[in-house]
Amino acid sequence: MPHRYHPWGRYPRWPQAAVRLNWRDSALPCLSDPTRNYLPFGNGRSYGDSCLTPGGVLLDARGLDRFMAFDPATGILRCEAGVLLSEILAQVVPRGWFLPVVPGTQFVTVGGAIANDIHGKNHHRAGTFGCHVRCFEILRSDGQRLRCSPAANPEWFRATIGGLGLTGVILWAEIALKRISNAATTVEVIRFPALAKFFELSAESDRDFEYTVAWIDCMAPGNQRGRGLFMRANHAPAGGCLSPKAKKHRVSIPVDLPVAVINRWSARVFDSLHYHQKLNSRGAAVVHYEPFFFPLDGIGYWNRLYGRRGFFQYQCVVRHTEEGRTAIEDILQCAAGGQSDSFFGVLKVFGNRPSPGRLSFPRPGITLALDFLNRGKPTLDFLERLDQIVAAAGGAVNPSKDARMSAASFKRFYPNWEILENLRDPRFSSGLWQRVTQE
Ligand SMILES: Cc1cc2nc3c(=O)[nH]c(=O)nc-3n(C[C@H](O)[C@H](O)[C@H](O)COP(=O)(O)OP(=O)(O)OC[C@H]3O[C@@H](n4cnc5c(N)ncnc54)[C@H](O)[C@@H]3O)c2cc1C
Repeated sequence: MPHRYHPWGRYPRWPQAAVRLNWRDSALPCLSDPTRNYLPFGNGRSYGDSCLTPGGVLLDARGLDRFMAFDPATGILRCEAGVLLSEILAQVVPRGWFLPVVPGTQFVTVGGAIANDIHGKNHHRAGTFGCHVRCFEILRSDGQRLRCSPAANPEWFRATIGGLGLTGVILWAEIALKRISNAATTVEVIRFPALAKFFELSAESDRDFEYTVAWIDCMAPGNQRGRGLFMRANHAPAGGCLSPKAKKHRVSIPVDLPVAVINRWSARVFDSLHYHQKLNSRGAAVVHYEPFFFPLDGIGYWNRLYGRRGFFQYQCVVRHTEEGRTAIEDILQCAAGGQSDSFFGVLKVFGNRPSPGRLSFPRPGITLALDFLNRGKPTLDFLERLDQIVAAAGGAVNPSKDARMSAASFKRFYPNWEILENLRDPRFSSGLWQRVTQE
């Protein structure tokens, strides 16, 4: 199997055929076999089976990699859907512009960012990526081309944003960028001893800081559970003296390791060192945007550290209520128990700006993301238990990072899923969609 067509969590591992799309004006190739499913593929940074189609053919959109138009006065960018966010940033940051929303890696395509309606550390201000998409064009398997915006084909616009690649291939998109003065960010890192303090810091910081996020130490002993590092940042004002260049990848994991080298003990040492090191670095620092926004991009293919069996990323959102906070505490308590392998979590409070996407995961509330080593059935059973906690708190689990959610849970989290099913291209499907709609 070509390496490129794995999901980032390395699970599931299906043989996967693919054809590459290179021209936005061409018809979709190879749709002649009516028995096979198809699915657009971006850069495989989705963690699970939402970016695979078992027994089907991936339509690899990375070849749609052209910039089409940019207005340096308004920051409106039009580009093909296979362009990476890293490629956009490399072009626009030196011209004083930045993407309105970025995820924790810059190696995702514009098409993938729209299809999963990604969120970033500024959700409390900017909402999702989809909030900044002005229009795009999709190509359906019957050859139909639909130009979509809030005014033109609005239902298709709303179903495609967060539509998990199922409504058609996004060929190009127009995005509204945001002004910045330079490539620097001013970042503060604050240690907090417990979850209650996280919520205080978040409420206080969301007023003055564009970017806020926390890392939770899942290995902390019981009396320190919920401790972590709170990061808050803004783009630096004009006049900074930071070099516009960031350091490139320092290390890369060259091959899949046969077994996971991440385990509770190595992670405990790492986390503890990291936590205490940050104690000495309080106060604001001026850093290049790359290490702040994309810390894990500094280790190429870090997902291989989890070994051949791969891992799951579990991301949920619950309402920002007492009940929701208790659910987050319960999940962290489960994650700290002997049956799981989660070393640190990412915690953030989402804001109220609604996404145009019909099925988008981000919504007002508290979101927590945790990585779990895949140990087979015990891990699957454990994650199912977490789903029950989230469901009881009226929350939802992120399908774009999922590889095992049951149909019952999905339909509970996304009761309006049939809106997407009705607009889905009949030739398009994914592992995720088959699992959560056909069981
Ligand atoms: C280290 C890391 C950090 C991350 N941090 C965040 C984060 O902070 N916030 C967040 O929201 N996500 C985050 N993610 C997840 C990632 O941003 C999303 O999964 C993203 O959508 C991946 O984009 P991709 O180009 O790799 O697309 P793929 O993973 O290849 O595909 C994703 C989906 O997009 C569809 N798709 C791709 N291209 C097209 C197209 N041209 N037309 C139609 N559909 C298409 C696919 O069918 C699939 O359903 C992170 C991932 C990693 C590995």
